[in-house]
Amino acid sequence: MTFRQQHLLGIEPLHPSEITTILDLADSYADQNRRNVRHEPILAGMTQINMFFENSTRTQASFELAGDRLGADVMNMAMQASSIKKGETLIDTALTLNAMHPDLLVVRHPHSGAVDLLSQKVNAAVLNAGDGRHEHPTQALLDALTIRRAKGRLHRLSIAICGDIAHSRVARSNIMLLGKMENRIRLIGPPTLMPSGIADFGVEVFEDMEEGLRDVDVVMMLRLQKERMDGGFIPSEREYFHRYGLDAEKLQFAKPDAIVMHPGPMNRGVEIDGNIADDINRSVIQTQVEMGVAVRMAAMDLLAQNLRAARKPDGVMV
Ligand code: ASP
Repeated sequence: MTFRQQHLLGIEPLHPSEITTILDLADSYADQNRRNVRHEPILAGMTQINMFFENSTRTQASFELAGDRLGADVMNMAMQASSIKKGETLIDTALTLNAMHPDLLVVRHPHSGAVDLLSQKVNAAVLNAGDGRHEHPTQALLDALTIRRAKGRLHRLSIAICGDIAHSRVARSNIMLLGKMENRIRLIGPPTLMPSGIADFGVEVFEDMEEGLRDVDVVMMLRLQKERMDGGFIPSEREYFHRYGLDAEKLQFAKPDAIVMHPGPMNRGVEIDGNIADDINRSVIQTQVEMGVAVRMAAMDLLAQNLRAARKPDGVMV
């Protein structure tokens, strides 16, 4: 087993073997979760603080559950309502945190790079739960585990990522992970929602769903990230659904056994038709949520092992 990281800040620094290590461990946690097995409290005595400077439903609950299942003392700090509003800097936040001696720190922040900065100032293993448009590593890992379990492999698959690529940290992390594992990635969306220079990432870019979805194994839909848009990126939601919303008609172009994914929260009738999202023969959206808990358990388990190894007996980092 190889996993050398002290933090999980993104997919970019991970070696493919580290990705496989996380997924293998998560796979066994997923099986144990299904069987309602009581887990070894391997995080007992450790403090996990969840700091979400941006709203979250699934991710925060999932990290909380993952920490609880492994025996950590889990605390949620409601950052939206507190210090950030009063103008506290990230560095002040770090100093406050250090005084609380957390071992694992889960952070979501609206600015790209903020989580990385915080990781340099705190004495804890930091997990990025989404920073601006930059990365959302545990989302890409849970997507990868969902794909691997559904398709039996995570290489040489043809995967379409569709919609608002430009504002999506989920897309960025997935493009990196799926690329490292040697899959064929197709990005589909209007040019206004496609980041410039994206073709350099070794992906194929399509403007048209019919062309882009042809014979793919996986269709990954993205939420239209209206909170990150400051102008008219689309003519109207109705028009967007007509051209880019996934419905039964467009799904026909993919392979007959293609799976449908969405990271949530979904805008039904905007990027995806509700009937497709709920179709248990095609949609793996609920499995993604399930795999999220397992992946977060695995990531915190591996980081805690590295943290213990790096600390002297008196708790100081070596
Ligand atoms: N939940 C994901 C994120 O935090 C996707 C989304 O919000 O659309 O990036």
